[in-house]
Amino acid sequence: MNQGKQEQLLALAKVWRDALMYSMRQWVQLLLAEGKLPRWLDAKRFGMGLSQRQWDSVNRQTRAALDSWMRLRQDEFRRIVNDSTLTQEQRIALHRINKRMAWWERSDDDGHRLARRIIRHLRCRVPFPDMRRCHTLSMDGKIADIQNSVASSRYARWVKVSTLTKGKPMYLPLGDNMRLEGQLMQPGVRLTNHLQVNIHDGRIDAHVMTVQPAATPREYGETLGLDWGCKTMFATSDGRLLGIRLYQWLQERDKELARLGAELNHARIPCHKSKRYRALNRRIRSYFTNEVGRLLNKLEREQVRELVVEDLDLRALRVSRRMKRIISRAGRSAVKRKLTRLEQGEGITVTTVNPAYTSQTCSKCGNVGKRNRRTQATFHCTCCNHRINADINASRNILARRSRKEGWRRIGRTQILSTLRKENEQRCPSHAERNAAQSTATPRPSRTDTEVKIISGIKYH
Ligand SMILES: [Zn+2]
Repeated sequence: MNQGKQEQLLALAKVWRDALMYSMRQWVQLLLAEGKLPRWLDAKRFGMGLSQRQWDSVNRQTRAALDSWMRLRQDEFRRIVNDSTLTQEQRIALHRINKRMAWWERSDDDGHRLARRIIRHLRCRVPFPDMRRCHTLSMDGKIADIQNSVASSRYARWVKVSTLTKGKPMYLPLGDNMRLEGQLMQPGVRLTNHLQVNIHDGRIDAHVMTVQPAATPREYGETLGLDWGCKTMFATSDGRLLGIRLYQWLQERDKELARLGAELNHARIPCHKSKRYRALNRRIRSYFTNEVGRLLNKLEREQVRELVVEDLDLRALRVSRRMKRIISRAGRSAVKRKLTRLEQGEGITVTTVNPAYTSQTCSKCGNVGKRNRRTQATFHCTCCNHRINADINASRNILARRSRKEGWRRIGRTQILSTLRKENEQRCPSHAERNAAQSTATPRPSRTDTEVKIISGIKYH
């Protein structure tokens, strides 16, 4: 790419970023005012030197960022409601609102008022996407047309990109991209008319997107339950513990974090201002997300047709709170991305279930109780004497949740506990008396106020 083209592209990128920020503000304003996102933004009067078609691309890019933000908040919202002490009706109302992501809908009933409070809390923790930090221009075919070049050219493909000057497009060569060409050799893979330009410290990196045809669901293979473990990344219901190295690695980094934290504290430097601290954070996050990818890839190569999972849960993992904070957000999106890829690219069905009480329930007889978990590592059933690694036990319960309606994702902890107890009593009558004695000894306070309690601390689901 010659210098003239680079300068043109950098000039476009500068305006583009301002446009992204402006566009995001428009979407957010409409979302908060009307309670839902409109289908499109009318960019006729937006100006800033961009054409209508360039604005359409900008608006699509911000819309995609906002959509993914909303989907992540939807998951968190559901978790908060499930873990709360709210009544059954309140929960149903909240799940209904959450399903439509209508948290800001203009309605003044109890449900909407509560929903607004929960989403305000979530928004404080993770604000709307900040487009200032976006280094990507995502251009669709109307403003970035990918063309195969005539045979004599050095480059196989060119992209015709609209610039800030009307009627003066520029032509960018797409260099010899071996990976892209390799991908295009695979059956069904085709090029989309979509260009992504990443700009980092003045360095420009342009690449085109490919699409894979959605894989047909696998018909053969096992169905595996996965549990996020306390000493390994996860345990599978067929009795394996995967990702043991990760735990050791995280523990070593944890020591480093503590040392560096203390040093910075001593020098009165806030952690987020330290380059070393930020670099360590980045290193931890990328290691964790790589491990997620590596381990799930391993399962992809096996004869697996379905994975039954819970959302990423780090509560059981025995590392510092600081460490959990560092990995949780990046980890959750990495897991999501990877599972989506397995589903679309490999045809593995992914089923998500509610994990409540899966770590306290015996996978053999169904007995539920904290006393089954006298130690973190081993599950020892007080009813049938079954002894098993605690994480593997949990993964078997997760697998079993698959046959419950909607994986029990829309019912709360209390209801799950009472159903599990009832089933266990039918199977094992001697337990009915003991459970009855227990529940009279420690009556659960019934709460009628609408307080939303966010349960944190040790994992005991
Ligand atoms: Zn048992």
